[in-house]
Amino acid sequence: MNLNAPLTIALSKGRIFDQTLPLLAHAGIEPLDDPETSRKLILETTNPKVNFVIIRASDVPTYVQYGAADLGVAGKDVLLEHGGEGLYEPLDLGIARCRLMVAGLPHRVEPTSRRLRIATKYVRSAERYFASKGQQVEIIKLYGSMELAPLVGLSDLIVDLVESGNTLKANGLVPLEHIADISSRLVVNKASWKMKHEAVSALLDCLREAVGQA
Ligand code: ATP
Ligand code: MG
Repeated sequence: MNLNAPLTIALSKGRIFDQTLPLLAHAGIEPLDDPETSRKLILETTNPKVNFVIIRASDVPTYVQYGAADLGVAGKDVLLEHGGEGLYEPLDLGIARCRLMVAGLPHRVEPTSRRLRIATKYVRSAERYFASKGQQVEIIKLYGSMELAPLVGLSDLIVDLVESGNTLKANGLVPLEHIADISSRLVVNKASWKMKHEAVSALLDCLREAVGQA
């Protein structure tokens, strides 16, 4: 792919990087270093016009919103929390699929003298979900290991991503309510969309083809 403008693509290490690589390879873009072994945060690729920046999954929308990256790949869970300001979300890549769910202990007793407590990293999605059911809840923000919260009495329920359900099961929890289907999306900075339109749309076409939506 012959691009007329340089592009920076924001990716997070782990499953998103691993599952985005084959799609970008379809566009002839392959990293020159492996982010799992290299300490570099900016990776050059086989296309001299394209660099990757390697950041936390939840930081991808922020980098793209401010134009520090032209494009990025972010989970819908992260985009729901971010709100999507300053971004276009033109393509569902269909990777890193899972579900955002409410989960808890199988034989819980509902509290009577206080609000239901929900522990989650997904404060905004959880608030929105329980509000849509007309349920007043207390949200407790956590940054990880949500499964622990009901086991030690920190919360009644959790809102978390579920893929196979094995992590829940290993901790004696059960999935209870489905909030949303999650997959990773290509996001594009709104100014880059205009100013680098040819390069962005050439890449978008290649990615559409790679995910079978061309
Ligand atoms: P951070 O390290 O910044 O807290 P993270 O731990 O959420 O990020 P990952 O676990 O790699 O990072 O998740 C990145 C994205 O992959 C998530 O935002 C979500 O969209 C998706 N994801 C997370 N867990 C699963 C899962 N079990 N199955 C499929 N996709 C998942
Ligand atoms: Mg994780």
